[in-house]
Amino acid sequence: MSHRLVVVGAGYAGLLAAKRLARKLRRSDVTVTLVNASDRFVERVRLHQLAAGQRWAGPSLRQQLSGTSVQLVVGRVTAIDATGRTVCMDVAPGAIGYDTLVYAVGSRARLGDVPGAAEHAYAVADLEQATRLRHRVTEMASGGTVAVVGGGLTGLETASELAESHPELRVRLFTGADGVGSGLAPRAQTHLLRALDRLDVSVHPKTVVAAVREDGLDTRDGAPFAADAVVWSTGFRAPELARAAGFATDESGRMLVDATLRSVSHPEVYAVGDAAAGVSVSGAPSRMSCQAALPMGRGVADVVAARLTGRAPGPVRIGYTFTNISLGRRDGVVQFTHADDRPRRFVLTGRAAAAFKETVVRSTVRSGPRGESGRNESDS
Ligand SMILES: Cc1cc2nc3c(=O)[nH]c(=O)nc-3n(C[C@H](O)[C@H](O)[C@H](O)COP(=O)(O)OP(=O)(O)OC[C@H]3O[C@@H](n4cnc5c(N)ncnc54)[C@H](O)[C@@H]3O)c2cc1C
Repeated sequence: MSHRLVVVGAGYAGLLAAKRLARKLRRSDVTVTLVNASDRFVERVRLHQLAAGQRWAGPSLRQQLSGTSVQLVVGRVTAIDATGRTVCMDVAPGAIGYDTLVYAVGSRARLGDVPGAAEHAYAVADLEQATRLRHRVTEMASGGTVAVVGGGLTGLETASELAESHPELRVRLFTGADGVGSGLAPRAQTHLLRALDRLDVSVHPKTVVAAVREDGLDTRDGAPFAADAVVWSTGFRAPELARAAGFATDESGRMLVDATLRSVSHPEVYAVGDAAAGVSVSGAPSRMSCQAALPMGRGVADVVAARLTGRAPGPVRIGYTFTNISLGRRDGVVQFTHADDRPRRFVLTGRAAAAFKETVVRSTVRSGPRGESGRNESDS
């Protein structure tokens, strides 16, 4: 019987991993099956654009997999039976067995953070949520208020994009205790604040939101704030599947893995992307980002292919080069970083940064998940 390799999740990490595994193991007795909830590749990094009303059509996964031996199953994995080595799905045949599992299910909004967020808040973390927000802002009357909660990268991008695409709405940004763009160099933060001001986004600095209501939010100091939509952008957490299956996870639900991305509790299981707590070059857990997801997707293919062909794999290197923030379509900030994610002094701003980001996003789809064909030093 052939070795059954199952990848769950066809995002940046999972799609790249599946294609690379199929190519590397094409002469072996290994079948690669990719299970994904949708038949499209969802470019999550564009979901704030979708929410703001811009056109987006995710590329077809079947097209992206054409010419490979990867078998695509479009369906949602509802549970993983770690003892029986089976993933259960909401589509026929209901379950498939695995000998090796690559867990690549990404992440979602942290809607459990405060009371009322799960019931009343909008988000941009996944396609369904971003589409819901898109419909909400489209139906809002002129002068309506959108409150974006979270001063990190997704909150900044969402507030800017909504403000630029919907100048008829009032956009407010509640930054939480960390403020705007914490961790970036002072020049980047200054540019962010100027851009928000230009786009007429009202910033509520260091204001912590304690609850979300149907008609607004409450701040921690007790002040109620009326809003027609509250967008929750305080960061991501991984789905519960791994924890429910009994795999070792961290407090965000991310699978705990070693330097080869192998589960520390289940050696036949690997995890990549946002769903994995990989070890980055600084020794800290990997940041939920494409920057970490892509080397993990590539790396896990190299590691698994090596082990299945009797070779010892090396560690997967997860390092960073820059952080990209779009501020609408014509402005942005690119913060260049050391490999350990510390900001360098060099920062790109304005149109040049917007163009840089657009190029990176396009080439990620072209040369990353879709165009996996290149070889790297560790290729066999
Ligand atoms: C608005 C926004 C902007 C962003 N901008 C940037 C940026 O500029 N730079 C950056 O580095 N990062 C950015 N990110 C973060 C980046 O999108 C994620 O880190 C990246 O998508 C993680 O890739 P992944 O492969 O781990 O997961 P994902 O891309 O989320 O893919 C996971 C896949 O698994 C599928 N899936 C999930 N659960 C199941 C299930 N139970 N069964 C079957 N399939 C399932 C999903 O449908 C999806 O296809 C942004 C995120 C958002 C939301």
